[in-house]
Amino acid sequence: MNVLVINCGSSSLKYQLINSESEKVLAKGLCERIGIDGRLVYQKAGLDKEISELAMPTHKQAIQFVLDALQNEKTGAIKDLSEIDAVGHRVVHGGEKFSSSTVLTPEVLKAIEECNDLAPLHNPANLIGINACKELMPNVPMVGVFDTAFHQTMPEKAYLYGLPYEYYDKYKVRRYGFHGTSHSFVSKRTAEYLGLDINNSKIIVAHLGNGASVSAVLNGKSIDTSMGLTPLEGLVMGTRSGDIDPAIMEFIAKKENLSIDEVMTVLNKKSGLQGLSGKSSDFRDLRAGASEGDKRCAAAIEVFAYRVAKYIGSYVTAMNGVDAVAFTAGIGENVGKLRGKIMSYFDYLGVKMNDEVNFATMAEEAVISADDSKVKVCVIPTNEELAICRETVALVK
Ligand code: ADP
Repeated sequence: MNVLVINCGSSSLKYQLINSESEKVLAKGLCERIGIDGRLVYQKAGLDKEISELAMPTHKQAIQFVLDALQNEKTGAIKDLSEIDAVGHRVVHGGEKFSSSTVLTPEVLKAIEECNDLAPLHNPANLIGINACKELMPNVPMVGVFDTAFHQTMPEKAYLYGLPYEYYDKYKVRRYGFHGTSHSFVSKRTAEYLGLDINNSKIIVAHLGNGASVSAVLNGKSIDTSMGLTPLEGLVMGTRSGDIDPAIMEFIAKKENLSIDEVMTVLNKKSGLQGLSGKSSDFRDLRAGASEGDKRCAAAIEVFAYRVAKYIGSYVTAMNGVDAVAFTAGIGENVGKLRGKIMSYFDYLGVKMNDEVNFATMAEEAVISADDSKVKVCVIPTNEELAICRETVALVK
């Protein structure tokens, strides 16, 4: 069975065509900077990467470029769309409606749409991706794999907010957590890679992409994570504020004469690295700015790193120790200098980095701590696509 896996984020779209029997990737790539300018990376297994600068104002346009590339006469992986047997989609928020993956029927799509307000930056992008695929491949079964599922093991003390209990009772206002497919995959792979017994392990995963979250995985189960009811809580992200004093909302609303919707737009789309730097939400642009002496870009990087370090520290407390810290996703996998900055807060735990390996490691598995470090630190590229492929096959077979 050939499964096309679509991981449609706010500014990027990763795709892989995977043969489920061999679990081999037939072709893969990503569309980057959607809505900014646009770049398609396409790679058929065994061939070189092709990079094309293409205008991608929308996700639908991006998916069309992907399907064209997959069917390309010379470098395509398939002859026509009939060779795609199923599509697996990453879906960010399943609320309490979805505690596991599900086939995407019109009813399910409606239910996902009802969760849009809980994930205003991502669920609409996921739905645009699903609908574009349905238009382009109307007879192919599609499955949604939810980011919230892995964190359902959190204990009550971690998922309840200090709010009137009736809000949980009536509206299910609680911490859900996101990036679950990634935290699940990376924590399992970390244990495997380091030779730890997953049933007796304390692993912290730092998923640092455009969206970013940290999770505490005790004995293979998520016991806490930095995102909450929505993906807005926790770390400073590309355009999201992460944790703030809730009173700031009223303060800014009054000062700037903004409605609650407008304040939410500021927190979701105009804050984080974008808001702090005033330049870009893209970490590469911030690094370039900082190296040219832009103080706000430099400050944005410091704030980002400090927040990640504080979360990692709090999860060491939550688990009463830590065996390994794993970095993953676009920023976590690629920026050694930032990983070093974050881990420099943990001298007190006996963390020692191998700077040479750390700075050289980009998007590959590696132990980046020194041999005598008391805590292992590693880079484990996430593979949400493979995890989604397995879930998809299980449901459509
Ligand atoms: P999402 O899926 O949430 O859109 P990604 O995991 O693709 O996010 O990560 C996107 C982020 O990773 C962007 O800030 C981007 O600048 C950063 N990134 C990707 N590759 C690199 C790199 N080689 N160096 C620095 N930052 C990178």
